[in-house]
Amino acid sequence: MNHDSGVVLETMRHEQRAVRRGGRVLLGCVAMALGAISIASAQQPARKGLKVYISADMEGVAGAVSADQLLSTGFEYDRFRGYMTDEVLAAISGARDAGATTFVVSDSHGNGENLILDRFPADVTIIRSWPRPLGMMEGIDSTFDAVIFIGYHASTSNSAGVRAHTFSSALLTEVAVNGVAMPESGINASIAGAFGVPVIMVSGDNVAVAEAQHLIGPMSGAVVKRAISFEATATMTPAAAQALIRQTARAALGRRGEVKPFVQRAPMQLDVTFKNYRPAELMTYLPAVTRTSSHGIRFMAHDIVELSRFLEFVTSYEAGLQP
Ligand SMILES: [Zn+2]
Repeated sequence: MNHDSGVVLETMRHEQRAVRRGGRVLLGCVAMALGAISIASAQQPARKGLKVYISADMEGVAGAVSADQLLSTGFEYDRFRGYMTDEVLAAISGARDAGATTFVVSDSHGNGENLILDRFPADVTIIRSWPRPLGMMEGIDSTFDAVIFIGYHASTSNSAGVRAHTFSSALLTEVAVNGVAMPESGINASIAGAFGVPVIMVSGDNVAVAEAQHLIGPMSGAVVKRAISFEATATMTPAAAQALIRQTARAALGRRGEVKPFVQRAPMQLDVTFKNYRPAELMTYLPAVTRTSSHGIRFMAHDIVELSRFLEFVTSYEAGLQP
């Protein structure tokens, strides 16, 4: 994600229910036919398709390095929104290979209107635009089996990583929960974790993937490029990256039982450090907010939903909002 000063840079679950039948009174061919159905049901128990949530950003897409790809005014933006779409489609294909049948995808970069809708299969639901209470995880709930992060980037607290930032490179220099600095992957995994859903995979550059795995746990990683500097990379081609993502998603969903949900202790202490002075000063006018430093504020959240709504407010509110 990335919001920059006004301009934004950045189920039906088909559960086949076993119908229990008592066949005692059934006779003749009808009984035999029903008996056959009953046996078939017992031998092939109703298979529940898996439900997968995909949160998609763009900085971690293969080849993306600068505003030329990441901003809608960039000369390569149109091409890269296509690559972002293709990486999400690759994750969907891989997850489908491993038994997923229901998908919700959140378009979580820039204006939230990057994914090319008509490229998606009809059974995919897409979350787009802002603001939304659960941010990059809007639409997640306890009915999902797994979460996948596509196109993710490292945090603003990391000295490496292509386009490393946390929610807004223009506004924030650190976000911490319960005293631990969090990348977007950490906050978003915590939201999923509160609903009991594990993050099974992340794709992005080597720094983003390592950061997420170190903080959250042993999820699968698809490293599609190596960070050289903030805006330079050694990258895979789009086709090679998509093949890796598909293969990783398939394997990750198969091993989902090995990954635990990432859960934060509640109540949660949220520390936000602003790039500038005045946002910290003004936020402290709210009675629920305390000042921790010249640029820092603290908010105690009862749960992750409250924390997420507060973060969304901090990064989205301006008195001049229209309409
Ligand atoms: Zn982004």
